[in-house]
Amino acid sequence: MTGFNEFAQVCRTIENIPGSLEMTGHVAQLLQDVTCDELPVVTHFIMGEVFPAWSSEDLGIGTSLLYAALSKTAGISIKEMELLVRDTGDIGMAATVALSNKTFSSFLCETPQLAILEVFERFKNISKVSGKGSQATKIKNLQYLFNSSSPEQAGYIARLAIEDLRIGVGEGIVRDAISKAFEVPVPDVERAFMLTNDMGLVAVTARRGGSGEVTKLGLELKRPIKMMLAQVTPTIESAISEMETVAIEWKFDGARVQIHKDGDNITLFSRRLENVTRSLPDIVSAVKEHVSADSAILDGEAFAVDESGRPRAFQEILKRFRRKYDVETTARKIPLTLRLFDLVYLNGEDLIDKPLTDRRAALLGCVENAGTVKVDEQVLTGDIEEVNRIYNEALEAGHEGIMIKNPNSPYSPGKRGKNWLKKKPVMETLDLVVIGAEWGYGRRANYMGSYTLACHDPDTGRFLPLGKVGTGINDEQLAELTATFSNLIVIESGMGIELKPEVVFEIAFEEIQKSTNYESGFALRFPRLVNIRDDKSPDEADTIQRIEYIYSMQRK
Ligand code: AMP
Repeated sequence: MTGFNEFAQVCRTIENIPGSLEMTGHVAQLLQDVTCDELPVVTHFIMGEVFPAWSSEDLGIGTSLLYAALSKTAGISIKEMELLVRDTGDIGMAATVALSNKTFSSFLCETPQLAILEVFERFKNISKVSGKGSQATKIKNLQYLFNSSSPEQAGYIARLAIEDLRIGVGEGIVRDAISKAFEVPVPDVERAFMLTNDMGLVAVTARRGGSGEVTKLGLELKRPIKMMLAQVTPTIESAISEMETVAIEWKFDGARVQIHKDGDNITLFSRRLENVTRSLPDIVSAVKEHVSADSAILDGEAFAVDESGRPRAFQEILKRFRRKYDVETTARKIPLTLRLFDLVYLNGEDLIDKPLTDRRAALLGCVENAGTVKVDEQVLTGDIEEVNRIYNEALEAGHEGIMIKNPNSPYSPGKRGKNWLKKKPVMETLDLVVIGAEWGYGRRANYMGSYTLACHDPDTGRFLPLGKVGTGINDEQLAELTATFSNLIVIESGMGIELKPEVVFEIAFEEIQKSTNYESGFALRFPRLVNIRDDKSPDEADTIQRIEYIYSMQRK
């Protein structure tokens, strides 16, 4: 049985290492040292997650709940706790300081012996509670953990509770560490992760059966895989010149849905891999009725249309995806249409390595185009005129534009590569993460009125600010956003608030300028909120590389 103190020690060591090679060595050693039962938990913990990305288990610990648990344990007020976070700039450090200053000692023994699995069990308890009294139960479980650990360990528990370990270990380092610890080639680990979406499972399989077993891991029904993503193409011409023959489809204005069919059992996942089956009963019955495969994993877009057949606003569709009660009524008010465009698994066989044309043929073979379900129409062509014609048709119908796909390409889960390109009109909007806010003035004094926006730096995993947005937000949205963000406050200082990066805004703007005011080196001119992208996670936000690219294109 491994103690949480051993995990904390490795975290502390890694935190002080700048190079990823050395970090990989320490992670590999940790993975070797723990037992088989502990291995999946430790693999997730070291990446700052408690459950695998595909799991619908959710801790539901906001910063205010965490501050409440810490202040109770430390015997200080919530205000004092908030001040500590502000002074240290980090919830983990603040927890350590608060608990070191504790005047009474309720530690179970001198060297706390909290086991790693015990921490996981407590987190699991926390994820299971809901409804009335759940906040109190969550606080009690957290208090137990803080009381049973040293101040330093409590710091790492606090960071884990909000799934932000801040030691710089991401998927890449863990992939290399599994490879090193259990002598499995990196590409095998990488591929197994792509198919399972679960580094813990890959680690255990690698330890038990080496490369032989790791390469047997495959897709599994009800375990969602990351969605294949698209890159922006500046022009239709450049896309065609790269691929010659392209597969053109409309880019529907809706929300992504991954469908797992296991006989009559249908499970639906959103773009963020949340299980949305219960919210979308109309899609469930449409799939049951019109998809003939025994088992399948299908990819598509769900959208809503008005009386004239034009797509309804994206926010309307999100209302459907978010709905937890009164689902049938909302389904009647906003019925959804489904366009299927890919098939990654059929009757026990993984299709992800097959070319798009083959996957599509299989898709056409198992879907009856009827009612609200259809396979997205596709045209194979190398003719720019024809592509332009389809593009204009899609826009006239009120959809977003077109997808330009490489007909020979495999399905690459989670990859935003050149095999799927998207073409939308005029200036693209940017999807940016909200990392801060400011309290408003006058009429808006009780609302967070201005939001700091940041792009993603995939190399470091950090979010780099590039502007603030306050316009384009109506009063209703302002109230809703303030409620959402109140739970994500990390530090408050005067009128300024640092927020946990969790919400993605779609932002329109006039121009990108160079700027020394923001860490990204860029600033947005006239940013305006277009949509709240609840369907996107922060690491799906636009990258600093894309900002640099748009900036260079503007200058041309
Ligand atoms: P974006 O959200 O701008 O990154 O664009 C990619 C998204 O377009 C995908 O995630 C899908 O939700 C959506 N989409 C709409 N139609 C298609 C299509 N025919 N093929 C692939 N994705 C599509």
